[in-house]
Amino acid sequence: MRRIYLDHAATTPTRPEVVKAMLPYFTDAFGNASSIYSYGREARGAVEEARIKVAELIGARGEEVIFTSGGTEADNYALKGVAYANERKGNHIITTSIEHHAVLEVCRFLGRRRFQITYLPVDKYGLVDPDDVKRAITDKTILISVMHANNQVGTIEPVEEIGKIAREAGVYFHIDAVQTLGHIPVDVDELKVDLLAISAHKLYGPKGVGALYVRKGTRLVSFMHGGEQEKRRRAGTENVPAIVGLGRAVELAGQEMGKEVERLAYLRDKLIKGLVEKIDHIRLNGHPTRRLPNNVNVSVDFVEGESLLLNLDLEGICASTGSACSSASLEPSHVLLALGLPAEQAHGSLRFTLGRENTEADVEQVLEVLPGIVARLRAMSPLLKTQK
Ligand SMILES: *Cc1c(COP(=O)(O)O)cnc(C)c1O
Repeated sequence: MRRIYLDHAATTPTRPEVVKAMLPYFTDAFGNASSIYSYGREARGAVEEARIKVAELIGARGEEVIFTSGGTEADNYALKGVAYANERKGNHIITTSIEHHAVLEVCRFLGRRRFQITYLPVDKYGLVDPDDVKRAITDKTILISVMHANNQVGTIEPVEEIGKIAREAGVYFHIDAVQTLGHIPVDVDELKVDLLAISAHKLYGPKGVGALYVRKGTRLVSFMHGGEQEKRRRAGTENVPAIVGLGRAVELAGQEMGKEVERLAYLRDKLIKGLVEKIDHIRLNGHPTRRLPNNVNVSVDFVEGESLLLNLDLEGICASTGSACSSASLEPSHVLLALGLPAEQAHGSLRFTLGRENTEADVEQVLEVLPGIVARLRAMSPLLKTQK
């Protein structure tokens, strides 16, 4: 059976070009980037080249990019790093109720210590209101953290407006750009951000590597203590092959983004339109237009997302309900609840995230099999009997 992968927000396959760029750094060029002889210099050169590639795509300077073990570490570093370095100035952090767990759980951790956290609400489309951000700022506020685009519902947040507000108030601004970098334009000066989190495996690079952009002059405590790597900001021998992979993935994404955005948005809209036409009692979650070009998130009434996923899997189609992290638990997604969905609708949610390998035939295949699955499940559903 042909498998159709439609879960690119969870992870993406590493591109062959990226694997090819990485391979020599496992074997021939295996040096420690801190060694001064030729093997070391070779590795160092590759790391610095990757740093420039990442910096170029976000409009930053190389020295403002710190390599990390992924998006989760970049978010942890941004929040804890700013919190502990700026305690004298204040202890208040503003974030939103729809952040990825890599931000939310760090805020909960800090909130149990001496920090105060404001979790801003979102509207029914998942949008944060910049005026809410402005009103939440106090003289104790040291950091605002808002994701660039939501990984579950695909809503693109007004980060440019929020960046302006943060800049005027003299408050650091962090964005989680894991779902946007390489997918839509991201520029640290246009968005007025001071910190920005990146993950390679969401843009066709390897897992376990990412980066944190830190604007020059930002007060930040080091995240890892040990050797002097990354200018003592993140100790530990550099994962040279992974860093090279991140650099190559970012470079390719930058070259192809324009074309790919249009192609994906076309497939996305075709899928949304087809689902709404072919299935009753279904609705789109997230914003109708301010959304990631590859994201489709719907709630199907009277069925469980889990059952939909299992039945799609039998047809070779890989999708997600809520997010990869929440699908192991039966808690409804915190994002869908924050959008105001009742728990039943949150449980009946289905997310398709398209990617480079997907074609129009894949979208047609989903539209071919899903209506039948929904009809079968509804025929057996106790939810339907009680609600109709
Ligand atoms: C995947 C993801 C992360 C975590 O990145 P990892 O590299 O998997 O640790 C953080 N934020 C968002 C929005 C994500 O989608």
